[in-house]
Amino acid sequence: MAQLKQGTTAARVFGEIWHHGPLSRSELVALTGLTKSTVFQLTEDLQRDGLVVETGLRTSGSQGGRRATLLQANPDAVRVVGVHLGGTRTSVAITDTFGRVLDARSRPTVRRRPDESVARVAEMIGELSAEHGAPSAVGVAVPGLIDRDTGLCLVAPNLGWRDVPVATLIGEAVQAPTIALNTVQAMAVAEMAQLRPDERMTLAMLYVGTGVGTALITDGNLLRGARGLAGELGHLQVRDPGDPEAVKCACGRVGCLESLVGADAIVRRATQRGIAAAGRRLTPELVGELASDGDAAARSLIQDIAVEMGEAAAALVQLTNPDTVVVAGSVASMGDMLLDPLRETVVRRTQPELRESLDVRRSLLDNQGKLRGAITLALQALGVPVRGLSGSAWRSQVLPVGEAAVAAGD
Ligand SMILES: [Zn+2]
Repeated sequence: MAQLKQGTTAARVFGEIWHHGPLSRSELVALTGLTKSTVFQLTEDLQRDGLVVETGLRTSGSQGGRRATLLQANPDAVRVVGVHLGGTRTSVAITDTFGRVLDARSRPTVRRRPDESVARVAEMIGELSAEHGAPSAVGVAVPGLIDRDTGLCLVAPNLGWRDVPVATLIGEAVQAPTIALNTVQAMAVAEMAQLRPDERMTLAMLYVGTGVGTALITDGNLLRGARGLAGELGHLQVRDPGDPEAVKCACGRVGCLESLVGADAIVRRATQRGIAAAGRRLTPELVGELASDGDAAARSLIQDIAVEMGEAAAALVQLTNPDTVVVAGSVASMGDMLLDPLRETVVRRTQPELRESLDVRRSLLDNQGKLRGAITLALQALGVPVRGLSGSAWRSQVLPVGEAAVAAGD
């Protein structure tokens, strides 16, 4: 299967057709600023490789104007796979060229045994490939710290991982270029891809599920940081050891934000406050349900969590001046019950100039965000220019040896 080289002119032309097709060749000339002969040559190459197909003619002008052949990306040219390694379940989806899901699988995650986790992922990809064709690229969302230069997962507390070369292992197992990224960072990129180019470009994502994390899109690009670890607010210590609310976090330290507002913490605090529903296992969603039904203790717990999350959001607002704060994860299902006090806290804690046009809202992708994030990474690995993930440091990383030259380009 043809592979695009990222950053090349061919990838750029394919990206325009992918994003804006069906397009005529003269429209491509106008969009890219390339010469006519370059566009004709590149589209011929893309057609030969099966990446682009002709979809018909468009007649310009009302009376017998010139008819132009239209081009669009071939939906069946490639398959890509998105993998979300969750703390409890691993989900894998296979998509067409446009990232539209054709089929998906979900199985329990094998915790603490990276080799078995990878084998399970490879098995699921194998099943999907047998039915739909082998993937040309794989994107993996990992709930941990991913080193931007080596692709090494330095630590993933909720998977029980330390120093796992996850992208290399999966890439070698399925023989496809593979990109791994922190789950919340991938979700922020996917959220960004939902927006039109003229829409808001500076976005702070605040994710609260089993893990707690943030990701920042600044001026249209994911903020990665020196090692790719930017946004790890979930493990910022917000309670001193000895504080009655300070408990041990999954990362091994004490008093992290995650150990205060993460899913396990919500269940722990709900239990301490006597919140319960007969015969039902306590979850953040259930706490939200009880609060909706008028349970005062559940309401007050959500209020407390909202304020604590709001303090984190306020720090993000003061630091990065975003136009949107996106709240995602299991707590997002609590809706305005959570968002209203969270917004009030942001207002209380920040300067008015920084929140004049600030929107604090739920993720557009909701439960699909993690897998959608992984699929977005796979499209990036394929060579489709994905908004939010530009920048040269991104390209050459985390590809299996031997595949790097194919997808890294230049
Ligand atoms: Zn922690």
